[in-house]
Amino acid sequence: MSLTHDVINPATEEVVTTLDLVGVEETDAAIARAVQVGPVWRAVSPADRGGLLRRFGALVGEHAEELARLEVTNSGHTIGNARWEAGNVRDVLTYYSAAPERLFGRQIPVAGGLDVTFKEPLGVVSVIVPWNFPMPIAGWGFAPALAAGNTVVLKPAELTPLTAIRLGELALEAGIPEGVFTVLPGKGSIVGERFVTHPDVRKVCFTGSTAVGQGIMRKAAGSLKRVTLELGGKSANIVFADADLDAAAASAPMSFLDNAGQDCCARTRILVQRSVFDAFMERFEQAVTAVRVGDPGNPDTEMGPLVSSGQRETVRSFIEGAEESGHAAPDIAFRGSAPQGAGWWYPPTVLLAHSTDDRCWREEIFGPVVSVMPFDDEADALAKANDTAYGLSGSIWTRDLGRAIRVARGVESGNLSVNSHSSVRYSTPFGGFKASGIGRELGPDALDAFTEVKNVFFNTQLAEGN
Ligand code: NAP
Ligand code: MG
Repeated sequence: MSLTHDVINPATEEVVTTLDLVGVEETDAAIARAVQVGPVWRAVSPADRGGLLRRFGALVGEHAEELARLEVTNSGHTIGNARWEAGNVRDVLTYYSAAPERLFGRQIPVAGGLDVTFKEPLGVVSVIVPWNFPMPIAGWGFAPALAAGNTVVLKPAELTPLTAIRLGELALEAGIPEGVFTVLPGKGSIVGERFVTHPDVRKVCFTGSTAVGQGIMRKAAGSLKRVTLELGGKSANIVFADADLDAAAASAPMSFLDNAGQDCCARTRILVQRSVFDAFMERFEQAVTAVRVGDPGNPDTEMGPLVSSGQRETVRSFIEGAEESGHAAPDIAFRGSAPQGAGWWYPPTVLLAHSTDDRCWREEIFGPVVSVMPFDDEADALAKANDTAYGLSGSIWTRDLGRAIRVARGVESGNLSVNSHSSVRYSTPFGGFKASGIGRELGPDALDAFTEVKNVFFNTQLAEGN
């Protein structure tokens, strides 16, 4: 029985295309090919491997508009975001194209010989990608993995496979040998599971929900597979009374509405110092209601639809459906607008949190919903910010340099920004504390996650002639 999947445009609910999904047999065949071509890929000289990745990056750049339009149609991303996302794949490939020639080992002083270390590829690396950022998250996995000399099998999310499939074609067009990078559209429960259980896959690079990530880590233990896990978040945006309140309020909407809130780094908990709470909320309401929600293909649009009807139901279950599932109805402060009719729209929604136990304060909703709560002083802000299972991102707004440093060091989170909501940069490390994950992607150190260190000692003391 062959499996198929209807790709649906989230803004119109129309079927875009129907895809055949890959099963276990095809997955095994792709992994076998990846094993087979491993030596071929490793034998490509460092300069040539870098050149192929640069060529791949250049092709992504040439096809950026096509890829971006594909993402708008498949995922409902705004065209502005989708262009950035395609550009990010190009930039990540270019950044790591420099890596093959810079995979330095060390020479360590020892008695009786020469001791050197090598960074060896792991072998076959699998990348499992979620639906929220199909292009960038794929690139953060495959680009450094390939640069380090691994071969890669990649599974896009069932909902959003189109750009990954296109990227696989562009890799071949760039001259990367067949089987070195294979995209396998299929289900998590079939293809994803197989990546985790297959003995020849040496690493799983996973981004998605905390629950699935925990299952992957458990199963990976069976074959001691390496894992990198990028999981959920519930990040805090902490606004102190001494902050530039206009800037803090004006920037807060897109810190949780970007990608319709389907962003693990979304700042979905806003903590505002009590003395400026009302002043902040007044400005914040103006800014949220001004956000343009609508046709994602229109360059002026700031927020599009949610990715699927299922995701909209999930979001609704926290708000309109809270009481049905036995939870208290959240206290809605105000909402923005969203189109009516076809499409999986949901309006920007701002909640007042009355306790850190509130469900919407604690759980990742993964939609355009934020909760706001006052705090009293620095210690209270830190305690509330850290009262979460997660630790991925966060922002701190203050004019006090010392406080910015203290609070940045105090928040238990992998990626913080002061007086901004900076997004992920390819040249700096990205990853989570606590339940937000294990390991770091991007930046100069990502290659360590795709290599093993090998130590070799050369004896220089053998007598001549022996
Ligand atoms: P998910 O189930 O964790 O899916 C992420 C990826 O893992 C998809 O490619 C999925 O395949 C695959 N997968 C699912 N089950 C698997 C398994 N048993 N073994 C191996 N791979 C498996 O996440 P989701 O269902 O898309 O979203 C649910 C929630 O997760 C969201 O509401 C959000 O809270 C969170 N999430 C977080 C991020 C993030 O960036 N950290 C991203 C996405 C979702 P299929 O697509 O075929 O199921
Ligand atoms: Mg799932």
